[in-house]
Amino acid sequence: MDLETQQVAVNCNKCKGDFVINTIKLEKFNGGIERNYFTCPHCQEQYTAFYTNQKVRKNQTEMAALRWKIQRATFINKVNRFLKQIEALRKDNEKEMNRLREEMGRR
Ligand SMILES: [Zn+2]
Repeated sequence: MDLETQQVAVNCNKCKGDFVINTIKLEKFNGGIERNYFTCPHCQEQYTAFYTNQKVRKNQTEMAALRWKIQRATFINKVNRFLKQIEALRKDNEKEMNRLREEMGRR
């Protein structure tokens, strides 16, 4: 999911050219929905990486805060509790992002 920090080599479905994803662009829709996408540098074909809405982004911020807390936690039971919270948020986001992809794909 963390495409911004990874060098992912992909092959374009349309022109079959190879390229590395280094820029994720953002397209905004009504209702706070954002599409994260990238384009093939050879033929400009657009590929959707994922969609987010306010709920997804709020969960992402919460997950980052929990990871920060884990790094500073001194008790293992606290760490485990934070890890469980992160896992719940991750699952919640996965569901929400799949739902958004389906909803937006129909447009
Ligand atoms: Zn292409």
